Amino acid sequence: MSAKTILYVEDNEMNRKIVRDLLKRTTYRLIEAFDGEAGVAMALQERPDLILMDIQMPKISGIEATRVLRTHEATANTPILVITSFALSGDEQKAKDAGATAYLAKPYSPFNLLSLIRKLLPEA
Ligand SMILES: [Mg+2]
Repeated sequence: MSAKTILYVEDNEMNRKIVRDLLKRTTYRLIEAFDGEAGVAMALQERPDLILMDIQMPKISGIEATRVLRTHEATANTPILVITSFALSGDEQKAKDAGATAYLAKPYSPFNLLSLIRKLLPEA
């Protein structure tokens, strides 16, 4: 069976490195996009099994990217985990309204992120 693919859409290199390191010891295959627009394009092209989506990004936000992905048949049902800035920002409601499957507020522990990933997309 081929590895399950996770697309991480995030403009911050430090955050991308954290997730890259986190997933190294798993069987997931990680692909990355650096802004919302590139994230939408990559999701439609690569059809990942799960998408991790930052909110604040250049070009289009993670909220807008999520909304766009829900309008495409290829990604209408792909689980999207939106990483929100903090609980009080209203981002969780915006993420939900845009069609996010789940959300996780920053700051989060890598352990929590990984357990949420495994819940949304069982590793094997
Ligand atoms: Mg960002």
